[in-house]
Amino acid sequence: MTTRSTVRLVAAAILAMAALPGDLFARQAADAGQVLAVRAARLIDGTGAPPVADPVVLIRDGRIEAVGSGLRIPAGAEVIELGGATLLPGLIDLHTHLISPPGMSWEDELLRSTPPSSALAGAANARVTLMAGFTTVRDMGTSWPYVDVALRDAIEAGWVPGPRMLVPGAYISTTGGAGDALQFSPYVQVPLADVLADSEDQVRLMARRHLKNGADFIKILATGAVFSRGASPGVQLYTEQELRAAVEEAARWGTTVAAHAHGTEGIKAALRAGVHTIDHGSMLDDEAIAMLKERRSFYVPTLFTSEWTLAHEDSTITPVSELRRSRAIADVKYASFRKALAAGLDIPFGTDASVIPHGLSARELAVRVRLGQPPMDAIVGATGLAAEVLGWEDRVGTVAPGRFADLVAVAGDPLADITEMERVRWVMKGGVVVKDEVGAGGR
Ligand SMILES: [Zn+2]
Repeated sequence: MTTRSTVRLVAAAILAMAALPGDLFARQAADAGQVLAVRAARLIDGTGAPPVADPVVLIRDGRIEAVGSGLRIPAGAEVIELGGATLLPGLIDLHTHLISPPGMSWEDELLRSTPPSSALAGAANARVTLMAGFTTVRDMGTSWPYVDVALRDAIEAGWVPGPRMLVPGAYISTTGGAGDALQFSPYVQVPLADVLADSEDQVRLMARRHLKNGADFIKILATGAVFSRGASPGVQLYTEQELRAAVEEAARWGTTVAAHAHGTEGIKAALRAGVHTIDHGSMLDDEAIAMLKERRSFYVPTLFTSEWTLAHEDSTITPVSELRRSRAIADVKYASFRKALAAGLDIPFGTDASVIPHGLSARELAVRVRLGQPPMDAIVGATGLAAEVLGWEDRVGTVAPGRFADLVAVAGDPLADITEMERVRWVMKGGVVVKDEVGAGGR
């Protein structure tokens, strides 16, 4: 390594430290028009193409300008040398719950937290998530409505560091369903957590309210849940017509619906109604898989949650009744995932983080690989394919010209050892280095 590149590495490290409090300093530090060149040993670009050796990624004004093997680096460019590392697109988690205070289940949150305290916890979780290599997340809801909208906007404004977020504002749930607050006496009203809708008209009203208040998409609880006390996970809660009402309202706003759905009939009703994603999708049958294929809707499983909660039964915040549900559904989830793999379904990546601690989301990749998914497909699920699900394939998810310069690096080869993705060493978001455990030492 030359002295000159060492100087640049130190500069990159200082940039990284400056970026820690938020994007404010870093944006001031990065000169407009300045070209950054990132070099590593190999590149996995998020499309599923074979890795590229000796990649160079040229970045200008926060976006990728060019990428290729051994690309000529323009004079005056600042070089970030990642040595033997593997470079990848920033990871995307399609199912997180960032607004979750540590040590509280979502039901406890309504009893023991306030919207502002939950928002601050959300900011902390957003930072941890970004440092783990996730530069974009689709958040799937908060106990306190619209706190997710505020966090998304705070990150976008550079007030706090975190991933790019798409948010639903709040859930839409049936009375007694997976999003109802069943921990209260029937005589206690929780007006701030009003997310219940029990007819087509009420679903429309709730969808309109969430969209008016800043939701990017609609999240509806089509069946019971594992981690809540309402109706059991296998039970369908909304009729196909009610689900269709949500899809129609979302479409008016140019967006889509994510359906939380474990049970087979609820999954199929949601697919017939035209939802965009089936989240969890625990009980898939052959017909559901055929419908997913035919309609180009997406199954977003969350597999690691069962393993984590069952391995931490004594210390977990999950109530005993929900632990019982988690134990009962684990093998069913794994069987559905294998069935979907065998059918050749494209399976984008989600985690249900908050059920698992924030920062551990990449462990879901190893669970997938263990269940038979090739490592490259698992990575594409969390990059290029996930971006397609978001309709953001022109912004994130692949290392290609025009995309945001959202990049991560790991020390080894994740195709040989997928757990490398659990040890992200370097993170860039929008051309700003926000984590650097490679640069200072180099290789
Ligand atoms: Zn969830």
